[in-house]
Amino acid sequence: MFVPRSLKIKRHANGDGKSCVAKIIKSDPEDLQLDKSRDAPVDALVTEAATPPDRHSSESCPFPSPGGQLAEVHSVSPEQGVKDSHPSEEPVKSFSKTQRWAEPGEPVCVVCGRYGEYICDKTDEDVCSLECKAKHLLQVKEKEEKSKLSNPQKANSEPESPLNASYVYKEHPFILNLQEDQIENLKQQLGILVQGQEVTRPIIDFEHCSFPEVLNHNLKKSGYEVPTPIQMQMIPVGLLGRDILASADTGSGKTAAFLLPVIMRALFESKTPSALILTPTRELAIQIERQAKELMSGLPRMKTVLLVGGLPLPPQLYRLQQQVKVIIATPGRLLDIIKQSSVELCGIKIVVVDEADTMLKMGFQQQVLDILENIPNDYQTILVSATIPSSIEQLASQLLHNPVRIITGEKNLPCANVRQIILWVEDPAKKKKLFEILNDKKLFKPPVLVFVDCKLGADLLSEAVQKITGLKSISIHSEKSQIERKNILKVGRVGRLGQNGTAITFINNNSKRLFWDIAKRVKPTGSILPPQLLNSPYLHDQKRKEQQKDKQTQNDLVTGANLMDIIRKHDKSNSQK
Ligand code: AMP
Repeated sequence: MFVPRSLKIKRHANGDGKSCVAKIIKSDPEDLQLDKSRDAPVDALVTEAATPPDRHSSESCPFPSPGGQLAEVHSVSPEQGVKDSHPSEEPVKSFSKTQRWAEPGEPVCVVCGRYGEYICDKTDEDVCSLECKAKHLLQVKEKEEKSKLSNPQKANSEPESPLNASYVYKEHPFILNLQEDQIENLKQQLGILVQGQEVTRPIIDFEHCSFPEVLNHNLKKSGYEVPTPIQMQMIPVGLLGRDILASADTGSGKTAAFLLPVIMRALFESKTPSALILTPTRELAIQIERQAKELMSGLPRMKTVLLVGGLPLPPQLYRLQQQVKVIIATPGRLLDIIKQSSVELCGIKIVVVDEADTMLKMGFQQQVLDILENIPNDYQTILVSATIPSSIEQLASQLLHNPVRIITGEKNLPCANVRQIILWVEDPAKKKKLFEILNDKKLFKPPVLVFVDCKLGADLLSEAVQKITGLKSISIHSEKSQIERKNILKVGRVGRLGQNGTAITFINNNSKRLFWDIAKRVKPTGSILPPQLLNSPYLHDQKRKEQQKDKQTQNDLVTGANLMDIIRKHDKSNSQK
């Protein structure tokens, strides 16, 4: 008796090119144990390797329905909906409880939250087992029946097309009717700075974008009642297809600010994949994918794939073949996949480079450029960076066409929700000072993140904190495995939207290189700086050098006032040659 291939689609490739389909046989002890609570006997599932891929059966497969009875799932021919005869050697899971929990970045079962190893062919949702597929289909059916009952007229009419055929962003009448000075006032009050030609006005409400109802619903469900400043300006500009250079920090709502234009673009593109998001780290990619899935839930044919290092490649390659619309990737892994010709990027119409400054600091610039070489030229580019140093300006001039620059909040200032304390502490006293802080109820509020210079330092300090203060402590760095990182990250995230926190920085002459940077950024927040820092000759030297550099840059700028001087100087030097 064969499990129909349409019943579940395994994500993993076994790599040998052969196919297998699942076969029901009697009795895996664990599965039977679960069955004790039920009246009817239940078969366990294992796979039978190398069964011809074109084989399909008209037999039915019994498995428990949520109510404890047996449900019947009938097999279908490939034409009826089998999307893939994907090879696999893993046994197909019958029950949710025999499935493992998902690793970060792996798909999650929509019913029970375990590893979503299969894609339900009927709904494209992730499920972990036959049990959850049955529950999921039942839920979908119940939802459909409920909506028929609540709206019988609709049920009898033609099935409604959920989306229009295309989407064009138009300024909402409410925004159109605002006076120019009202808009300027709004931008000023919210700290939105915009540069560029013919920039559209910001939105004030998500409703001003005329998104599909499902997307509006998902925004509300995610708790996004009103847009943040960066979203107000970036979303309409992005929806209009303009290239963007945005200066936005983590915690500002920047992810949704680029995701919404990405989603709307990908939704109406027929080619797959049609959107690419590049991030410097896998953790960030995982967070972006999670947010994307929340916002895309219920939108037709919108699938994401995570292509990141540190996680196995075969499931990522398999997922890539499932007509995904949005790729979220780190540069190294994506480039490897491009090199082995496992991805076709000619349908990409929108590219986001997130945390571009970190990307450059990590040395990914060439990899990003190599990736973009593989995309036909007519795509929209959004570059997001916490800071915009000259290296980012340079990259932007290479990648962006007639861009809109959007800056929110004071550039280069620390987040307003974080109280900054700068302490002068000599190296030998640092540990003691840290323990004092951790023992101080006024300053210590878990979780606490301690940044140190080196990996070994992190391990040793973590051990010392645990030993001396008795507080649970754990270190994280690039030599930790993905499993360890995942467990560590369960401590949660800090500095999230609207939450307050305290940042304590220890400095001494060993960090003299950073004196002016620290003073320049922290002083405007009103924090008191240590006298050793304020009186340091290094600080004054760095300040002077920066001022000289600024003056030089200003002299180099061509303005109406200095234009004639520059021409005269140029003429003079030419005649002297
Ligand atoms: P980000 O800056 O993209 O890392 O977002 C920071 C956090 O704010 C995330 O947890 C988002 O889910 C949340 N967020 C983003 N936009 C909004 C919004 N408009 N309203 C409420 N929360 C939001």
